[in-house]
Amino acid sequence: MTVLASDGAAVALGATRSRDPDIVATIGSTPLVALDRLFPPDRFQVYAKCERFNPGGSIKDRAAKSMIEHAIKAGKLVPGVSTVVESSSGNLGIALAQLCNFYRLDLICVVDPRTTAQNTAIMRAYGAKVEVVDRDPATGEYLPARIARVRALLDSVPDAYWPNQYANEYNARAHHHTMREICEALPGGPDYLFLAAGTTGTLRGCAEYIQEQGLATRVVAVDAVGSVIFGPPEPWERAHRRTIPGHGAAVVPPLLRPHLADRVVKVTDLDCVRGCRRLLAQESILAGGSSGAVISALEGAAEWLEPGATCVAVLPDGGDRYLDTIYSDAWVETRFQESPPDPDHERSEP
Ligand code: PMP
Repeated sequence: MTVLASDGAAVALGATRSRDPDIVATIGSTPLVALDRLFPPDRFQVYAKCERFNPGGSIKDRAAKSMIEHAIKAGKLVPGVSTVVESSSGNLGIALAQLCNFYRLDLICVVDPRTTAQNTAIMRAYGAKVEVVDRDPATGEYLPARIARVRALLDSVPDAYWPNQYANEYNARAHHHTMREICEALPGGPDYLFLAAGTTGTLRGCAEYIQEQGLATRVVAVDAVGSVIFGPPEPWERAHRRTIPGHGAAVVPPLLRPHLADRVVKVTDLDCVRGCRRLLAQESILAGGSSGAVISALEGAAEWLEPGATCVAVLPDGGDRYLDTIYSDAWVETRFQESPPDPDHERSEP
């Protein structure tokens, strides 16, 4: 299927026909790499699905492609006419900015002051408008203020469309492909799939594929201490300040189907930093915060994983977007009042 852009040029929809690969067609088919240095395979085998290889740099390229292409096909978005409005502080905003640029759609991305200058600059480079909102005066939280601004824009901007990543089924459906790719590399599927949960699109899409295919793969969802996704936080969690974006949420996502996670593991921000730095020291992979969360959960799983199990860890993005936080010794010292993990100490001989 093709649609006409404002300049009259035909724009092809990715999943509908074969074509010479353009940039959108390169989304997905990310590499699966063995993490044999970090997890010696004599106990259990771990592979990492490296989502930073998507052209926008994260797993959210898949969700953006799926949501935007479906909305175009359904006639909810018209290239050259419509404006996409979404609330995102990072990866989805960048992924949408790329997709909207490609399909000749305008994008207004509503962010808050925690969004890094680099992420905002990337969105703007793709042509997106970025609006920064402050805390909601009633609750002191950013999320209600962001959603209120999205709703106001939907009322005031002609032909505006909100993908609403937390509730959009096509966010989840994108990850049927993620799991299919994993199964193509590991026929029959791995014994365990470790993934980070935010909107829970990755969890739902992968787990639905597992169910549809009748696979025995068990899903371990990695959430943040203090997050409400899988239930109210324990009293001790309330003191934990979440500063690493990606996994965890302050509201229960409408997409969530909690029974799809066989196990939930909650990790702290410090666990994420340690996981990221060990991954870098041992495997030379510069990964984002939620990847560190998944690695930390896998390290904890050594206690209960059966010998010989095969595990896949989904690494949602790269570490380039976290150089001023996770990979900054000064930030780690200020944030956690402790010295950063010593890579030489962490490194074992290959
Ligand atoms: N990690 C990172 C870095 C992300 O950007 C996201 C998306 N918010 C996630 C994990 C969680 O993925 P999902 O929204 O599919 O649950």
